[in-house]
Amino acid sequence: MADLEKLINEAKEAGFSDAVPLNISTLELRGDVRASCAENKCGQYGKNWTCPPACGELNELENRISDYRQGIIVQTVGELEDEFDFETTMEIFEKHQKTMIKFAKQLSERFERVLALGAGACKVCGECSYPEPCRNPKRRISSMEAYGILVSDICKKNGAEYNHGKNTQTFVGCYLIG
Ligand code: SF4
Repeated sequence: MADLEKLINEAKEAGFSDAVPLNISTLELRGDVRASCAENKCGQYGKNWTCPPACGELNELENRISDYRQGIIVQTVGELEDEFDFETTMEIFEKHQKTMIKFAKQLSERFERVLALGAGACKVCGECSYPEPCRNPKRRISSMEAYGILVSDICKKNGAEYNHGKNTQTFVGCYLIG
């Protein structure tokens, strides 16, 4: 079994603002969350291997996560000038994605099975090759939403603050370790 306290410290050293242990039994893959992907507000539906429909149906994803025993939740939190500060929001988002990729690589060098779920479509190799074959199937990172996970709910169930106060922005991810 992995030393979660050590992993949490390492996650913070890698650049995350916060990290907490994830109780795997709290992971709930919800059809309503997943359905919101089809609204395509992010423009990635049907354009990335880690987004619906290419990432697989919820029952397939449920099977995929079913034999992981441990995990951590990670967050990247930043301050905005005001609630309309889109530029800083995107900077925080990009920082979160880069840290997700970096820490996933770190973990995969030590653990046989690691599943990273982040925010937004996979950016491991910049522009996704979809529908051509994925360039890095072992490293690709789906979003928690694509797995039907309600981010605020999973944070609450695991004691992670989700709302860090007025004019802050939080992006969330998790790592499952087999
Ligand atoms: S690793 Fe590259 S090709 Fe594969 S899903 Fe991610 S961005 Fe797309």
